[in-house]
Amino acid sequence: AEKPIARALISVSDKTGLIEFATALARHKVRLLSTGGTAKALKEAGLAVTEVSAHTGFPEILDGRVKTLHPMIHGGILANRDDPKHRTAMEGHSIDPIDMVVVNLYPFAETIASGADYDTCIENIDIGGPAMIRAAAKNHAYVSVVTDPGEYESVIRDMDEQNGAVSPELRAWLAREAYARTSSYDATISDWLARQQGTLWPKRLTVSGRRQQELRYGENPHQKAAVYRRTPHEPGIATAKQLQGKDLSYNNYNDGDGALMAAAEFEEPVIVIVKHANPCGVATGDTLAQAWDKALACDPVSAFGGVVAVNRPIDADLAKKMTELFLEVIIAPAATEEAMTILSEKKNLRVLVTGEMPKASSKQNVLRTISGGFLAQTADHGHVTREDCKVVTKRQPTEAEWRDMMFAWNVCKHVKSNAIVYVRDNATVGIGAGQMSRVDSSRIAASKSETQQGTQNSVVASDAFFPFADGLLSAIEAGATAAIQPGGSMRDEEVIKAADDAGIAMVFTGMRHFRH
Ligand code: 5GP
Repeated sequence: AEKPIARALISVSDKTGLIEFATALARHKVRLLSTGGTAKALKEAGLAVTEVSAHTGFPEILDGRVKTLHPMIHGGILANRDDPKHRTAMEGHSIDPIDMVVVNLYPFAETIASGADYDTCIENIDIGGPAMIRAAAKNHAYVSVVTDPGEYESVIRDMDEQNGAVSPELRAWLAREAYARTSSYDATISDWLARQQGTLWPKRLTVSGRRQQELRYGENPHQKAAVYRRTPHEPGIATAKQLQGKDLSYNNYNDGDGALMAAAEFEEPVIVIVKHANPCGVATGDTLAQAWDKALACDPVSAFGGVVAVNRPIDADLAKKMTELFLEVIIAPAATEEAMTILSEKKNLRVLVTGEMPKASSKQNVLRTISGGFLAQTADHGHVTREDCKVVTKRQPTEAEWRDMMFAWNVCKHVKSNAIVYVRDNATVGIGAGQMSRVDSSRIAASKSETQQGTQNSVVASDAFFPFADGLLSAIEAGATAAIQPGGSMRDEEVIKAADDAGIAMVFTGMRHFRH
């Protein structure tokens, strides 16, 4: 039989569940060793505890920077209990074995998220904690390492079943989690330091996250998948709270992110409907309900089974309209109680709230795996204003055309290339996505439109320049009266001439929005 745990060292910053856990340990006759703050909390709960400083005979010094970094502690954790030489050394130095290490670290991620100054962040880098965690995890043949309050319950259950011992399987599992914890802790510090120093591409890139959920499957049923969040504090789809509905799928998360980040692009109340990671209807209005009708009209066929994001709390009016259509997911910063009552009629419909809208400008670097490595780039934060645009045609755009062009340009950024977007009255009326030819995108976008007037008298946006006049001509044929595009083609003159000949207005943004 495994040996019962005789001595545990507890040193935790996050004291969630601490007393219940320590009480259960005490019930198993485990002697408790603890650092200052933790010992105080345990004593206040009436538990018998020895302070680490009393155990080592050395006080906590340097404002807590050195508390547990002592051979009495690290020897007790690291000794091989079956090695006679180790045993002799332990006896020779009067080192007692420590069979369990319960440590969670200084809240570094929370400290940087709170906007604390540099020195405060530095002070919140835990040193002794990770040292104990790594030592205990290395020696998991003998020692249990508990690094997360979420693990307390399974540890106690195991000890209850094994007369106070922890099974080798659980010890190995805890060790694995422990190294993931310390490596992710250091990754966060390195990432923060790189940002402080304005370093975009440090030599080693470390990615850290915490599993939110294992997903039923990935993009397809034969793929496995999970979702991770970077920190709990970053508003976004990965950290959103689900208020109702079935579990989210991999595709739901991916589409949801596309929809949410497109919605984050707009100031006015906006509706973004996404299918297969592309918007199929986007509109703004005085109210969300008004925007809904316009967004849905763009492509009601594709909107079926869509993922919707909005940038205002869902109200009852919008909720009523949305229940008339089969939708997979709705994402919003919040929802009124009345709206939730209406939406709850659709049991399977997933409703997520993010608390606040993520800022379009706060999107982190984009990573993508490629064979043998990964690509990293800054997120597409590109944003143009009217003043950045250059009118290249004889005809100036009208006020309405300007407004719709800026709208179309914002949407275009969130559509897979080659992207063509037609807009009229702050609503998309045709979206062409993911085509290998820009002419095809123009045609498909126009044919998508089911509104009565179709793409007549709309404006058109193209995510990249028209390499020939044909793409633009096809948009003009579809009824576009103004075009917004980056410009910069060898044949710009030919394209401008086609615009002038048709009497439409065209502006160049000087910025491209490829999205693949
Ligand atoms: P307490 O609240 O018990 O005073 O402190 C608990 C925290 O101290 C834990 O987060 C633990 O990781 C951390 N800690 C334990 N030993 C050391 C040490 O020697 N140096 C530093 N910097 N932190 C330690």
